[in-house]
Amino acid sequence: ILGRPGVDGMSWIEGWITPELRALLDAVFAKLARPGMCNIDDTDSVAATATVVDSKVLEAAARRDRRDAGQRTHDALFALLQPGVDPTKLGSHRGLPVQAIVTMSLNDLERGAGVATTASGGHVSINEALKMAEGTKPVLVVLDADGLPLYLGRCQRLASPAQRLSLIARDKGCTRPGCEAPASMCAVHHVTDWTKGGPTDLSNLTLVCDHCHALVNDSAEGWKTVVMGKDSPYRGRTGWIAPKSLDPTGAPRVNDRHHVGEWVAAAIESSCHRWGSRAA
Ligand SMILES: [Zn+2]
Repeated sequence: ILGRPGVDGMSWIEGWITPELRALLDAVFAKLARPGMCNIDDTDSVAATATVVDSKVLEAAARRDRRDAGQRTHDALFALLQPGVDPTKLGSHRGLPVQAIVTMSLNDLERGAGVATTASGGHVSINEALKMAEGTKPVLVVLDADGLPLYLGRCQRLASPAQRLSLIARDKGCTRPGCEAPASMCAVHHVTDWTKGGPTDLSNLTLVCDHCHALVNDSAEGWKTVVMGKDSPYRGRTGWIAPKSLDPTGAPRVNDRHHVGEWVAAAIESSCHRWGSRAA
């Protein structure tokens, strides 16, 4: 609902949007609404038309940026609707094209049922996801039974964007236990640090939001990351070890916040089996 303009000319906007629209908006806002981008009050901030963002210019503009998240979203939408701005040509954000990214398993794709995950943490049905793939050209990641990417659709550059896509599909968001930051707000982190010989292999990479990234260090108050071992039920996922002051056990823990779709699918699957066996 767009409310009537008030005496000051300002209008109230309110309403529900579908997961599909949310995925498209999130992809745009992840880039255009971040601090230092599209600031109406700062002509030296980075414009929506800048396909290549100079990180020094962006960081300087972000330091001057005093807008709250709501104002940045407003300014991003304003920038998006300016003449000459093509929403399909917004360059890249964190190494990937600014497009909705939708992840689904091959099994679900073949069955035409199940839940697909968007990079911003939303869930859409497989049918809705495929409709999006036809009409809006998102990046579509399909996983095989082992969780390895089979198809990296419409991605121009293959090497590191492919790894990032795989991480979005596998981790879905920040891997620190309890953190709800979706993949669109995450950077790629080396589980074993690069400076300590950690390779840039998928098995040694994980998604971490900027806040949690800053918590990882070698001090007594720092968090550590490990790859969960073969005998863990979370094999291959990223485990986080809290500082001793928070958790004296030193046990690595994983983040389940972004895997709700899998729980839902597993619950539906197991209840179908139960019902099936009862019927038989
Ligand atoms: Zn986080």
